[in-house]
Amino acid sequence: MRIVQKFGGTSVGSLERIGKTADLVAAELAQGNQVAVVVSAMSGETNRLTSMAHEICAQPAARELDALVATGEQVSAALLAIELQNRGIAAYSYSGGQAGFVTDSKHERARIKDIEGDHLLTRLQAGEVPVVTGFQGVDEQGNVTTLGRGGSDTSAVALAIAVEADVCDIYTDVDGIYTTDPRIVPKARKIERIAYEEMLEFASLGAKVLQTRSVELAMRYNMPLHLRSSFEPVAGTMVVQEDDSMERATISGVAYNRDEAKITIMGIPDQPGIAANVFGPVAGAGINVDVIVQNVSEQGYTDITFTVPTGDYQQTMDIMRRLCKQMDARDVKGDDSVAKVSVVGVGMRSHSGVAKDMFDILAREGVNIQMITTSEIKITVVIDEKYIELAVRTLHSAFGLDAEDS
Ligand code: ADP
Ligand code: ASP
Ligand code: MG
Repeated sequence: MRIVQKFGGTSVGSLERIGKTADLVAAELAQGNQVAVVVSAMSGETNRLTSMAHEICAQPAARELDALVATGEQVSAALLAIELQNRGIAAYSYSGGQAGFVTDSKHERARIKDIEGDHLLTRLQAGEVPVVTGFQGVDEQGNVTTLGRGGSDTSAVALAIAVEADVCDIYTDVDGIYTTDPRIVPKARKIERIAYEEMLEFASLGAKVLQTRSVELAMRYNMPLHLRSSFEPVAGTMVVQEDDSMERATISGVAYNRDEAKITIMGIPDQPGIAANVFGPVAGAGINVDVIVQNVSEQGYTDITFTVPTGDYQQTMDIMRRLCKQMDARDVKGDDSVAKVSVVGVGMRSHSGVAKDMFDILAREGVNIQMITTSEIKITVVIDEKYIELAVRTLHSAFGLDAEDS
């Protein structure tokens, strides 16, 4: 088999952990498999580097931030290659650029355009172990770029596709994908197999166990992902195409995201094109808008409320204040202490009443719902951030997801 193994921050967080990671690489080689490795920075390193830059100034240039944080992955790739070589394994580290990852030029949120994978494929076929830095590439001008937080997952999946691997193993600090984040709900249950589509919703709604883009890529190319622990040798969770062996529960999981801020622009003259006017400049600034609600117009005026990531809150508020004047709207209000909680499940397609149940459960706990959005397989509500843990725990339990034995 040809395998891409990705190791997250905790799996390369110390020399001792790098040793254990090398054991996992060696074990696959001993089975006769070809192995390429993708590594994250040592845990905490990306944050450490970013905060150093912010000590110098509030808004360091994105190009320099990328050059800075990309070093984190280079350290762990080189250390793991040294560890493997020390065991007589022909392993060589490659930066994103050296490995042929070409991205667009959107610093801090670049997208992979192409991987020139032939070179690495030749090395793999020669029995070598390429150890590639996750999270980074170079743009067409040769600038170092990074793929957004958690981006090493995407590097690993893209590499797996480029070298036509049989599976992409994502090693992390949990032994699988759970019905919700096990850090806040100890009763969360491990899911054995999950469909790409469901995982995609789960990730994009805040389950940070896999970067959303990595699931999108895996789904498009049908690359099986195996999310597993680098601490315990147990089977993890397979992320694959939907099949009959999957559980058919109505709700498969609960996801949450604290990283949300809510903005309302009020009293906009209601004419064709207003939504485009409001969201055009936001999109132009590269900001992702999430939940959107537009009210029914009253006497020719309407309100639009939407959410953006907390980090983009101030910039979006500035844009909206400018627009408010230009469009002759009444006012702009913002709140950066909201959060989003969602229930997800492909089973929802064939069950009605889930939304009502969700609203009842939250109402019983006194949690006020500020915004609602649904798709075929998810229901999302925006609530006050201080209720997030209560909401996740209560929904998890009320929808029958709690593990029986804990
Ligand atoms: P890595 O550094 O290995 O990429 P991450 O911190 O990015 O690790 O992802 C693993 C973490 O994801 C877990 O420690 C867990 O707290 C969190 N997580 C959030 N939602 C889930 C979920 N549904 N199942 C498993 N882990 C989850
Ligand atoms: N080191 C980067 C981060 O902390 C990328 C990753 O770990 O996937 O976000
Ligand atoms: Mg991660």
